[in-house]
Amino acid sequence: MNVPFLNLSAQYETIKNELLPEVEKVLAKGHYILGKNVEELENEVALLCNVKYGVGVNSGSDALTLALKAIGINNGDEVITTPFTYIAPAESIYQMGAKIVFCDIDSKTFNINPIEIAKKITKKTRAIIPVHLFGQAAAMDEIMSIANKTNVKIVEDCAQAIGATYEGKPVGSFGITGCISFYPTKNLGAAGDGGMVVTDDPEVARVLKMLRVHGVSKRYHHDLHGYNSRLDEMQAAILRVKIKHLNQWNNRRAEIAKRYTLGLSKLPLECPYIAPNNKHVFHVYAILTDRRDELLEFLSKRGIPTIIYYPKPLHLQKVYEDMDWKEGDFPVAESVSKKILPLPMYPELTNEQVDYVIETIKSFFNISD
Ligand SMILES: *Cc1c(COP(=O)(O)O)cnc(C)c1O
Repeated sequence: MNVPFLNLSAQYETIKNELLPEVEKVLAKGHYILGKNVEELENEVALLCNVKYGVGVNSGSDALTLALKAIGINNGDEVITTPFTYIAPAESIYQMGAKIVFCDIDSKTFNINPIEIAKKITKKTRAIIPVHLFGQAAAMDEIMSIANKTNVKIVEDCAQAIGATYEGKPVGSFGITGCISFYPTKNLGAAGDGGMVVTDDPEVARVLKMLRVHGVSKRYHHDLHGYNSRLDEMQAAILRVKIKHLNQWNNRRAEIAKRYTLGLSKLPLECPYIAPNNKHVFHVYAILTDRRDELLEFLSKRGIPTIIYYPKPLHLQKVYEDMDWKEGDFPVAESVSKKILPLPMYPELTNEQVDYVIETIKSFFNISD
């Protein structure tokens, strides 16, 4: 049996009949950038996140960059984030001319550790970017309480967690902004790049809408240093079809996660930990094992290729070699990056495929016992 690591065409097959007429309408209408579909999608995503405004942008990375810009992050400011994630949040901090301040992660959820955040707050700290990694909300109670005490703003990175909740509240509704990615492999993925910032703050929403179109207040009147970061109608139309399925897809991901965890429970490995009162949307299902590289090869030889997220924590990346970070600075992130192994995870996986992955992992550990 073959179990592809990702399979976007499988999803396309399930919704082809809904998608194609919408795509055709956009093509026929001839209005391609921003517009009615983008506006409707902004409303739909804002509703899902339980906030007032959504501002469609070009990518999840741009969502972070424009959010930091909109809340006034500047040269000399410090912004705290996690070293165990995709590089986008760190990059967005760098682009503001601000200082990236990493802090270590929790060993069970792999999310930023609030105890470590508290140690890194200085007079210059202006914002924290918690990433809701792999589809599970960070410890938002603790993070919000640090933010409220210190007057630091929270910019949530929801790229992997749209639809996730923490104590019943959707991710994206805690901070001043929530930043969403519609990268094709995300839980709500476009057929190209796309992203959105959600916020309850009318002023932040107003500034974001200017920033995404070169800082204009009206056509050819530029009030701010802006960007070209617009969402297009085709992507929005596709996303509006897909958003109707999101809850069902997220539930199927959780069901697959349960099946994996049950099937793997007696083996010498760690399955994902779900923190109490969290709805985890399993963008990624990853196990921890001391024999990660051996298991990776074993699986790949048996039709189950996988991809490691993340093999190298951000503080050890070449791009940051002139910063002060070194091996040993964030021991939890470093240790997790050596042991982590994501398994195939998408709603279209069949139970037979999931069981084949489980049986293959079992045989790896039994053969070598
Ligand atoms: C995917 C991702 C992003 C960036 O989103 P793009 O749409 O690819 O720019 C940011 N943060 C995290 C945690 C991500 O996984």
